[in-house]
Amino acid sequence: MIKLNDLYFKPFISEAEIDAAVQKMVDDVAKDLQDEVPVFIGILNGSFMFVSDFVKKYPKPCEVTFIKLASYEGIKSSEDIQRLIGLTQDLSGRKVVILEDIIDSGNTLEEVHRIFKNENVGELKIATLFYKPEAYKKDFRLHYVGLEIPNKFIVGYGLDYNGLGRDLPEIYQLKTTQHMTNLV
Ligand code: 5GP
Repeated sequence: MIKLNDLYFKPFISEAEIDAAVQKMVDDVAKDLQDEVPVFIGILNGSFMFVSDFVKKYPKPCEVTFIKLASYEGIKSSEDIQRLIGLTQDLSGRKVVILEDIIDSGNTLEEVHRIFKNENVGELKIATLFYKPEAYKKDFRLHYVGLEIPNKFIVGYGLDYNGLGRDLPEIYQLKTTQHMTNLV
């Protein structure tokens, strides 16, 4: 059990299980893409550890880059419109694989699709290491899923709670009490 700020987290997914899930995703992607040189795009911050392990295992040449989604500042809108930071490269005609740490409601993924619609990519595929099927509210296809998990808050392996826990090599799950309904 670990404590981050005021909350307790219990061990949930081991390093070995994560490693096996990442390896399976790498194998599936490499098999599908054959000899294409893909552009892997990690969504920061949460995906940094996953992307690092994924590309180290990837057996063929590939490009890797990161983007970040940030809310627009200073516009008077109640809508949470996102803009993208970090995409500088021409993706026309390229096979792009988005590497996400976790897909929950799918709102972030919707933004990703909206943004990449204008990029003229050859093919866009979505890979997520963790996926919460009970929370997912969208229809976008998830081409590669590492591990399906229950609709509970997790930390570790890039995922944080209030900035803490990203450095942990394994995944922890929030240890809930009846007073903690806001995070689960
Ligand atoms: P979505 O937009 O699919 O609802 O959520 C995606 C983002 O929410 C993720 O990229 C991640 O930053 C955050 N998120 C969703 N579920 C969790 C979770 O269980 N733990 C942590 N630390 N972040 C989460």
